[in-house]
Amino acid sequence: MLHRTHLTALAALALAAACAPAPSPRATPAAIAAGSGSLGGQQARWGMVIHGGAGTISREQMTPAREAAYRAGLERALRAGYAVLQRGGRSLDAVQAAINVMEDDSLFNAGKGAVLNAEGNAELDAAIMDGSTLAAGSVAGIHRTRNPIDLARAVMEKSPHVMMVGDGAELFGRQQGIQMVDPGYFITAPRRASWERQRAADSVRAASGARGMADAGPAYSVPDERKFGTVGAVALDQAGNLAAGTSTGGTQMKRYGRVGDAPIIGAGTYANNRSCAVSATGTGEYFIRNTVAHSICALVEYGHMPLAQAADSIVNRQLVAQNGDGGIIAMDRQGNWTWPFNTSGMYRGHIDAAGNVHIQIFKD
Ligand code: ASP
Repeated sequence: MLHRTHLTALAALALAAACAPAPSPRATPAAIAAGSGSLGGQQARWGMVIHGGAGTISREQMTPAREAAYRAGLERALRAGYAVLQRGGRSLDAVQAAINVMEDDSLFNAGKGAVLNAEGNAELDAAIMDGSTLAAGSVAGIHRTRNPIDLARAVMEKSPHVMMVGDGAELFGRQQGIQMVDPGYFITAPRRASWERQRAADSVRAASGARGMADAGPAYSVPDERKFGTVGAVALDQAGNLAAGTSTGGTQMKRYGRVGDAPIIGAGTYANNRSCAVSATGTGEYFIRNTVAHSICALVEYGHMPLAQAADSIVNRQLVAQNGDGGIIAMDRQGNWTWPFNTSGMYRGHIDAAGNVHIQIFKD
């Protein structure tokens, strides 16, 4: 009965997506995944897809040096995950290895280089999920854990819980021997400067009676310069198991205590061998309200929709109809993968079983 109810709800969801009103100019459907693929036939199907955040990323604003740095960072992460997969390791380990590289790279909004909250501190969220068991671990409101994805994994494997927050999560991390750092470790000069700019702009707006980010209403989409660079990975290993992980500093100037979609299982992160693995990036509130990652997997599992179509219908129809900006990466057990986004760019990369790397930033 539950199953039938679920199916009906999903059919309604798919129908609503198909009948969604015309997209707003903010999120362009033209950005529909320029990439998706499949590795069938005799080829090995395993591989990995990663993202380093979605937003307004235009060629005009990008310098060659900056583009090269992003590409190099993404490739390092892909190669770290690939090394695990190639030696027959688990997708879970590959996802963690790739995310560790991006957490340590200050270009990305995760770990070192995270954006700052309204108090001027880095406040981190992360989650990881094993598609073969549905085991999941997530952490939110983290201030001292060098690699939040490691703490999420410890919650998954060393505690009976799925989600832990703040001081309690970090106390547990210390007990598990997870590396802690001074909160200042995460803060870089460019992030501090961006925060100062926003604080100045918000006080000008406040003086004119307008609301700043921390007090904006529910329909607010976070401007891109304030949330570039969340990181995520999905992988299929040689044993045919899927995994997903996401790590982020969230959105700049978020209220102290705000939790985004990344650590919410089913919103920003989800993996299930029966359907797919998904990691998301964008204004998290929309991804939470629409349970984006699980909705995509549910369309695949219950609606028998091909992965690319399921992902596209949620990202480029359902989210766009609500002005929810962002994108996702996804893989299924057949090795199909996709990376739709409704912004002008998303840092993203794929590596196949032969080690071929494919990195894209802009929508074309
Ligand atoms: N989804 C993240 C959050 O809302 C931010 C991002 O992906 O840019 O916390």
